[in-house]
Amino acid sequence: MLKVNNINVYYGAIHAIKDVSFEVNDGEIVTLIGANGAGKSTTLQTISGLLRSRTGSIEFMGKDIGSVPPDKLVAHGLAQVPEGRRVFLQMTVEENLEMGAFTQPASTIAPNMEKVYAQFPRLKERRRQVAGTLSGGEQQMLAMGRALMSNPKLLMLDEPSMGLAPILVEQIFDIIKQLHQAGTTILLVEQNAQMALSVADRGYVLETGRVTLSGPGKELLADEAVKKAYLGG
Ligand code: ATP
Repeated sequence: MLKVNNINVYYGAIHAIKDVSFEVNDGEIVTLIGANGAGKSTTLQTISGLLRSRTGSIEFMGKDIGSVPPDKLVAHGLAQVPEGRRVFLQMTVEENLEMGAFTQPASTIAPNMEKVYAQFPRLKERRRQVAGTLSGGEQQMLAMGRALMSNPKLLMLDEPSMGLAPILVEQIFDIIKQLHQAGTTILLVEQNAQMALSVADRGYVLETGRVTLSGPGKELLADEAVKKAYLGG
């Protein structure tokens, strides 16, 4: 579904992403793990067209998307839940969800919203509440629901567990598992390697802009180098 082939991304003179390649197949959860500053967000922003690679290619559903503008990618089936959620704080839950459907025909909004509410009953209870008054976990659910309103083929999640209490992290990962079981393909960027690798079919480890290891999630969880660097022993 997604093939990232040999990308190199720079911020001015800083070479942030170095010869990175990976792929996400239909129906998989794939995770990119790595420490602060390893290049995880830069990689996601390059896929979603906010940054550009100087080399290589990015293919999505068989099409080179390397020069497609970000707003067009949503219509192609690529949705991103950004780091820090970025929900529209002054708008209600329902209005935020409607914003996620801006590329969709009007007739799909109501049925999609019902699907999102079935996945996130908490959002349904709070549909008229202003998003700025939701808890961090609820805002994360709203950001995920908003992305799902565009009927994505691939859902990219940037650090969904960031800043959440452990119990909420568990809930968010349960939802990720449910979305996967319902057939959504997911690219998950996480600093919480333990949680990410335990739900992922496959994972890639990023270190200072390079992929240094890859394999099935369970294998990486058991890998001695991964344990030492990312799993606290
Ligand atoms: P984090 O979890 O902290 O967000 P990350 O793995 O997502 O980390 P990136 O944010 O992709 O890492 O950063 C990769 C590298 O690029 C880092 O060295 C970072 O300092 C640098 N970088 C990121 N954004 C910019 C920017 N706007 N200008 C210059 N350098 C940047």
